[in-house]
Amino acid sequence: MGTGDWSGPSAGVIDGRGLVALPGFVNAHSHANIGLYNGLWDRPNVAVPGDPYPRVPPYTSFMTADEHRDAAILTMIAALRTGTTTLCSCERYAPATTVEAADRVGIRTLSGVMANDPVFRSVGRPNWPDAANELAGLALARAGDPLRRFFIGAHSLYSCSPDQIVEARARARELDVPFNIHLAEHPAEVAIALERYGTSPVRALDRLGVLDDRVIADHVIFVDDDDIDILGRRGVGIASCPLSTAKSGAVAPLAAFVARGMRVGLGTDSLLSNNALSMLRELSLAIVLQRVRGAATALGPADAIRLATLGSADVLGWSGEIGSLEAGKAADIVLYDLRHPWGLDAERVAAGIVYEADRASVRTVLVGGRVVVYDGRASTIDEDAVSAELAGRYQGGGPRPWDRA
Ligand SMILES: [Zn+2]
Repeated sequence: MGTGDWSGPSAGVIDGRGLVALPGFVNAHSHANIGLYNGLWDRPNVAVPGDPYPRVPPYTSFMTADEHRDAAILTMIAALRTGTTTLCSCERYAPATTVEAADRVGIRTLSGVMANDPVFRSVGRPNWPDAANELAGLALARAGDPLRRFFIGAHSLYSCSPDQIVEARARARELDVPFNIHLAEHPAEVAIALERYGTSPVRALDRLGVLDDRVIADHVIFVDDDDIDILGRRGVGIASCPLSTAKSGAVAPLAAFVARGMRVGLGTDSLLSNNALSMLRELSLAIVLQRVRGAATALGPADAIRLATLGSADVLGWSGEIGSLEAGKAADIVLYDLRHPWGLDAERVAAGIVYEADRASVRTVLVGGRVVVYDGRASTIDEDAVSAELAGRYQGGGPRPWDRA
């Protein structure tokens, strides 16, 4: 279906007979502008164990404005088509382009920039403080837009100096927006924290005074009991990404976070490491990987769905408006085609969503009451035209972003 085939909410009635309505998923961690690097992480020479600074793509600083926009559009279509209505997107450059793409595709966003120190992360051009200034202007320009919220972050403890982390945290406080940071995502980060700070990544950030309940911590894999205790006491929100984490050979202690009543949600990370950007896949992995890890009965299907909806919304500080279907909340709704030989009840719906549903099950998606996927196809943008344009650009021998590096 191309643009214009759907006449929009003014058509009045959506026939949902035989379909199951759920709140849209809230993807608590991604990077929209890496969308052109789909699956790159699967190449054996890319994910180098122990090296947090691989000298390989993604080189987002070499991307043109068109490439930034198209990367974001691909990411957002993938998200919508798999039942995600809100995307948290972390960029280094061009935060306005992410918002422009989101306006076009119709997905809800919490987006922002992450500081990088040119000494600690030398790939690409420095982004600080330009990115923060750009973000501040964007947040001001879009204040009051119900679909757009913003954050300021620092990429990670390993790619930022202590001063830069503290400065980025202060900028977020000034703007009264969340602070977003990758945390304890890699054994090499633990080693770097020990070397630079003499302690664990979590304790290092705590000493810098940046941890509180406005912090979104991404991944949070390599933590001990004391780290978990600190994160719980500070009220830090955790965006756990089961598939991309498992691809790197690890499993986060998700069940332990949930058992302690911490603020936890699910995310996918980018198309680079998560080729379908599907929260549906994260649901089953969130459960089964915890079982493999030894937490046999810790999480069930209903728990996983809650993590991916209200849990993530809470991590993003947005649970007052999204994450559940309630009177007064935004109409971020996904209609699934689910069936069961005995008929559907709540338990079979939860199990079906987690273990059976896929992209083909997603029939209709509404964001803020606007139909953005109808009959399984994006209704805001012509997906075939996007594919054709990209094929013309990259399959015809034209320069790809990484060729400019
Ligand atoms: Zn990330």
